[in-house]
Amino acid sequence: MTEPGLPDEPRCGRTPVVPPEMAETVRTILGSEGGTASSDTSCLRHPDHPDHADNPHYSLLADLGAKDGGAWTLWRGPNLLLVLLPWCTTLEDEPCLLFHGHPGPCPSSQPSG
Ligand SMILES: [Zn+2]
Ligand SMILES: [Zn+2]
Repeated sequence: MTEPGLPDEPRCGRTPVVPPEMAETVRTILGSEGGTASSDTSCLRHPDHPDHADNPHYSLLADLGAKDGGAWTLWRGPNLLLVLLPWCTTLEDEPCLLFHGHPGPCPSSQPSG
């Protein structure tokens, strides 16, 4: 399943097990901020991304709009973290679709030829 706008690139694709409390928190954020819950909560990182303490999986739980960024979950093993982060603005011409300060290169910045 591909979300519109996301680059068609291989992705890690692991899905977080979001605890009910966290899902409720996201719903609360969406209620007050006005945004859309992401239907694709799989890890957006490269399939070969390192899996250690400084490199958790991350997936978008909710899109809070162009200005407000997104609600993300960063996780490694059973430990999930809910964070609100602004969008990455490294690319000026096209949205990177990851959060500001994400590790690694922007998914859309790969040379295409
Ligand atoms: Zn991952
Ligand atoms: Zn980026």
